[in-house]
Amino acid sequence: MSDLALLGGSPTIPDAFPVYASMGKAEEEAVLRVVRSGCLSGFYGSWEDGFLGGAEVQAFEAEWGARFGAAHTVTVNSATSGLIAAIGAAGIGPGDEVIVPATTMSATAMAPIVYGGIPVFADIDADTFCINIASVRANLTARTRAIIAVNLFGQAAPLAALRSLCDENGLVLIEDNAQGPLATENGRYCGTIGHIGVFSLNYHKHIHTGEGGVCTTEDSDLARKMQFIRNHAEAVVEDAGVENLTNMLGFNLRMTELSAAVGRVQLTDIADHVARRENFAAALSKATQGLDGIQPPHVRDNCRHVYYVWAMRHDAEVAGMTRNTFVAALQAEGVPCFPAYVAPLYTLPMFRARIAIGREGYPFNLGSREYGPGLCPVAERLHTHEIVGIEPCAFDFSEADAPRIADAIAKVLNARSELADWRNGEQVA
Ligand SMILES: *Cc1c(COP(=O)(O)O)cnc(C)c1O
Repeated sequence: MSDLALLGGSPTIPDAFPVYASMGKAEEEAVLRVVRSGCLSGFYGSWEDGFLGGAEVQAFEAEWGARFGAAHTVTVNSATSGLIAAIGAAGIGPGDEVIVPATTMSATAMAPIVYGGIPVFADIDADTFCINIASVRANLTARTRAIIAVNLFGQAAPLAALRSLCDENGLVLIEDNAQGPLATENGRYCGTIGHIGVFSLNYHKHIHTGEGGVCTTEDSDLARKMQFIRNHAEAVVEDAGVENLTNMLGFNLRMTELSAAVGRVQLTDIADHVARRENFAAALSKATQGLDGIQPPHVRDNCRHVYYVWAMRHDAEVAGMTRNTFVAALQAEGVPCFPAYVAPLYTLPMFRARIAIGREGYPFNLGSREYGPGLCPVAERLHTHEIVGIEPCAFDFSEADAPRIADAIAKVLNARSELADWRNGEQVA
């Protein structure tokens, strides 16, 4: 008879973790204030007062800029919208190449396609899971116009180095910082090191407004363009006296007063929200240090990791079980963890078939960088065999939970002989 919960024993952690509840009295009052005002959006799609949104939106932008030290802040209704606005402002057009990491949320690679740009996938770093700068260099061509670096799981990509590379080559660096508010590299906030930073305020992120996003930039021209793209540029540019119409295709990416009012409260509490995840994650890293078969997250020197995901690497050979068996056994012990993150994006049907726009598919020549298996070996290996994630933003973990989770991990790793006939989370014998 085994102790392992997967084999009928009792779980290490019998009770489910509560979900993280971040909406308090102050958010309630903010929502009521807006509802009582009767104006749920202050935007108007023409060149007048309402072009930049209502009082809550404009106050939220000013407060966000002050908090992160960004000269210009443009709110939007999601980070996906923010990426679309950023790519437009960067001037990406048909045939321009935009280098993105293979491992990221799909919106990172979708945004360039909206403007006819071509996502080129760089491999990721095995230690940090962020874009690998040598792979970025290897993918540079005369058609490269921008790089989107993703601060994956809440840790900075090599931002300063990428910024230098971009400045030397006349490229635009966009940070997809959806997962990394308050993360830093060399004391500077992620989202403010690239030419444009994009944050997400969707329900699953560190702080949220239901749906929402924020773009930051030092460059007044990029900020202005994002404001036009957010709010029906084509109808506004003439009255605004804009002569350069390049990429001035407008959408409605506007944030409501309700979201902005909630966002203002969440922003005042952001340090507490992030610290709760960070403290739990640090305790979990400490408690799992030295366990054979897994490696807790690697934190780069002089960087602050804010742990949207606490991701460990599983070594099947040392652990004596496949990653998916390890995850199945851990889940049975009551640890809410997931195998892998997302598949390398070039394996999605849209990229495999190159069909996104029009009926003919999407004809372009990528040469040796053709989308297909083997393109980014590190991303593929980590996805298929190594990454195991725990989401501190999804559950209300306390520091005291870290040793219990570490006990469950140790229990599973110590029971390798009992799992000898398991593969990929299923019994094979
Ligand atoms: C969540 C996320 C997005 C998209 O954010 P939305 O606000 O939901 O559009 C983009 N990139 C990354 C890396 C994300 O985690």
